[in-house]
Amino acid sequence: MDRQLKGKHDAMSAYATIRTRSAVAPVRRSFEPALDPRVDAIVAGLKPAEPLHCLRPQVAKATARHFVRAFRGDVLYAVKCNPEPRILRALWSGGVRGFDVASIGEVRLVRQLFPTATLRFMHPVKSREAIREAYFQHGVRAFSLDSLDELRKIRHETDGAGDLALVVRLALPKGEAAYDLSGKFGASLEEAIALLRAIRQTGALTGMAFHVGSQCLAPAAYARAIAYAGAIATSAGVGLDILDVGGGFPVAYPGSEPPRLQAYFDAIEAAVGALPPELTPEVWCEPGRALVAASTSVVVRVEHRRGNELFINDGVYGSLSDAGAPGFRFPVRLIRPSGEVSGEMSGFVLFGPTCDNVDRMAGPWPLPADVREGDWIEVGQLGAYGASLRTAFNGFDRAHLVEVEDAPLLQTAGHPVFEARR
Ligand SMILES: *Cc1c(COP(=O)(O)O)cnc(C)c1O
Repeated sequence: MDRQLKGKHDAMSAYATIRTRSAVAPVRRSFEPALDPRVDAIVAGLKPAEPLHCLRPQVAKATARHFVRAFRGDVLYAVKCNPEPRILRALWSGGVRGFDVASIGEVRLVRQLFPTATLRFMHPVKSREAIREAYFQHGVRAFSLDSLDELRKIRHETDGAGDLALVVRLALPKGEAAYDLSGKFGASLEEAIALLRAIRQTGALTGMAFHVGSQCLAPAAYARAIAYAGAIATSAGVGLDILDVGGGFPVAYPGSEPPRLQAYFDAIEAAVGALPPELTPEVWCEPGRALVAASTSVVVRVEHRRGNELFINDGVYGSLSDAGAPGFRFPVRLIRPSGEVSGEMSGFVLFGPTCDNVDRMAGPWPLPADVREGDWIEVGQLGAYGASLRTAFNGFDRAHLVEVEDAPLLQTAGHPVFEARR
């Protein structure tokens, strides 16, 4: 540990600090390996009274392999999307070697799992301690920023290091994404020009990054953003070493069939190719959702039925937050290990287990008309921003974790194809 950091730790230990509970409730119990690695068999045997997270590491691995092979540039997995170590290892075995990390916790987690991974700290506002530890203890050399204050902070905390790559996060005009991410971070055109010039003077590799917004349905959004970044670099009169096109690559959800991944890669390649000849940046991307959405489903149990409303044991404070206010729909299927299921389908509203009114998922969720208390429902496509957003609110913090070999509930056109295993 370097001396300055050690001093801070010593100062802290003079106080009696209370360890706070982790925001993401740890998954309490896991059962593995299952004798029959299929969701139906596990539910029939385990009769899970708590949410059952069904991990499909082979799906994450194949999806990563496909993405890494098809993208011309460096692929950095955005760890916040799903930091489950089994999923991280699956991505690594699929060929992912770079990680977009945003906190010192993510830096430590990934470094501990993969000593040789490339970590890039792509959060524009970092704590001083996080910068220093990332640089001196974990070999992080690339950092994003959107202000001159952050540039000074990074320079100071790395002791004026000469081996940095500094990437300006741009604010983009509103795009076609389900989640717009430009309201919080990003330099304006004028700020970006000033920052690029200041970075160039430090001798660091100089880059630009943007995020078109998560679940972006328009490949052209990347092309527009790349042209915008190119125009800024030209105005600044600064060469561009790195162009980071961010995340946002979409997957299928019920009722939303996005363009194929290759259409995004083609749009990116064409736009990079159309940059002025003096700009020939290395290209990075930071996919989250596209790599891991299909890798996890969650089996929930119906605790009560009231008309067309089902009270289930997971909700917006658990792994279904996107089904709440953001209004995402996920593929669902009923599991009733014993007994016939009605062939007639009906639309249902779901309520989560907490006492909060907002713990409601409007759907509508298509399920057999005779769904009843004691049935299980498998909810698919929850590998992205599902389990990683769980809280312990209201005491609903327990879940089981299993690895399964089923195909995903919903497949995305242009992604690897998985055979149903029955
Ligand atoms: C969240 C995030 C990502 C991942 O976005 P997806 O839409 O999940 O691909 C990538 N980069 C940054 C900076 C992010 O904040």
